[in-house]
Amino acid sequence: MKIFTILSVLAIIIYGCASGKQIQERKHIPFSNDLNIITPAEWGGSAITDSLPVHEISKITIHHGGVYFSPDSDAVAYIRELQSWSRNNKHWIDIPYHYMIDFEGKIYEARPIRFPGDTNTSYDPRGHALICVIGNFEKQHVNDKQLNSLSRLIARLMKKYHVPLNEVKTHRDYAETLCPGKNLYRYFQNGSIQKRIKDVLSNK
Ligand SMILES: [Zn+2]
Repeated sequence: MKIFTILSVLAIIIYGCASGKQIQERKHIPFSNDLNIITPAEWGGSAITDSLPVHEISKITIHHGGVYFSPDSDAVAYIRELQSWSRNNKHWIDIPYHYMIDFEGKIYEARPIRFPGDTNTSYDPRGHALICVIGNFEKQHVNDKQLNSLSRLIARLMKKYHVPLNEVKTHRDYAETLCPGKNLYRYFQNGSIQKRIKDVLSNK
């Protein structure tokens, strides 16, 4: 009986350690080969018909949508509308950003990355890979799925285009704007996005 009790206690301890390890492993953010980026053909975007002089990526710059977005809204409809607004109202070649991230952390390819983005503010977007997290982060809070996808996408782009971490910044670091909103900007200020990116890069 006593031996049985000791064995049970040992089993619990071993099991406890094992599950502790599992939880720890799950914290590692996998590298970005499995990002499943949704292409314009998949989200129903219309093909690009115009072009701009191509550019080479040397920076990665983060934006927010700037419009309150209810987490249960249809992100695909939002992105399609953004595409027609960009073309019809702004006369840009496409959505001003190269990638969009929704509240589920899904990543959508927007403007082809070989073309520079567009902006209503005063910085020159040539050389910047532009990522937009959907939502208004002056008012809303960014969730963990979004932060995860953002870090993984940034890591993938850094590796592909040889962009150093100190060239990963936000819109407000270049122009007079609140973008990407204080509730997203704070993760850049306190270094937690940079830490996530380093974690992704070290787990490739
Ligand atoms: Zn912006």
